[in-house]
Amino acid sequence: MKRFEGRTVVVTGGNKGIGFAIAHRFASEGANLVIASIEAQVEDAAASLRETGAAAIGVVCDVADAQSVTALYEKTEREFGPPDISVQNAGIITIAKVEDLGEREWDATMAVNTKGTFLCCREAIGWMRKAGRGGRLVNIASGQAREGFIYTPHYAASKFGVMGLTQSLAKEVAEDRITVNAVCPGIIETDMWDYNDRVWGEMLGDYAPGELMASWVRNIPMKRAGKGKDVAALIAFLASEDADYITGQAINVDGGLIMS
Ligand code: NDP
Repeated sequence: MKRFEGRTVVVTGGNKGIGFAIAHRFASEGANLVIASIEAQVEDAAASLRETGAAAIGVVCDVADAQSVTALYEKTEREFGPPDISVQNAGIITIAKVEDLGEREWDATMAVNTKGTFLCCREAIGWMRKAGRGGRLVNIASGQAREGFIYTPHYAASKFGVMGLTQSLAKEVAEDRITVNAVCPGIIETDMWDYNDRVWGEMLGDYAPGELMASWVRNIPMKRAGKGKDVAALIAFLASEDADYITGQAINVDGGLIMS
């Protein structure tokens, strides 16, 4: 029997990047997958999981919108039953000097990264408590939830918010056998990283494409950027029965970049 056979797993931002790697990992271990993202192409990602033999659906959802999030979990319940595991991965980043950082950019970042994580946790917890069989929440924070970085005060603040949310919820739902943990990825190769390389590269100096990333990778003790599957492996562990006594924690997956 596969480890997550019969379990219902929701992954937000599950159509690409880290989120798709997480969805793929759960699918390969027998879970029923609901992947959500803001673009309609999410169904293509779900179809590619079904081609591997997994049960998977794609749902268009804006995690920053409460009604949309409620509809996501209602659809999950109708399709596969209440969620056993919910991974709050959807996130956005922009890079700007503080004088150029407008209110709209600040609010949009908070709305997706922090409020979106809260709204998904709230819905998932509601369904998990009703089902009464415990559950697992994993929130994707960032190395920037450990230490702020230049030109991303809004992103760092949004991810520090995810850490507080994680700890507070972990205390509230522990007696319901629901664990809530955070994962802090370091430098992971995804579309987001391409954007980071280009924009930070322009702002921090005259870096050729890929050059800034290469210089940062040289600072990683393991001398390589992370892959989505590195993050997915940790999340699968935190969602498993082996992690039954771990809650309210934040774990870095970054090749040793930040050691606190
Ligand atoms: P990507 O940009 O590759 O993917 C982001 C995902 O979030 C997409 O699926 C996107 O959907 C989805 N998304 C964005 N806004 C919304 C929204 N309002 N509602 C629903 N879904 C939304 O990012 P990564 O895979 O790189 O990052 C995933 C997570 O990991 C993020 O939370 C990020 O902050 C975090 N992280 C990433 C690091 C990295 O180095 N890559 C490092 C540290 C943390 P769509 O495609 O439909 O737009």
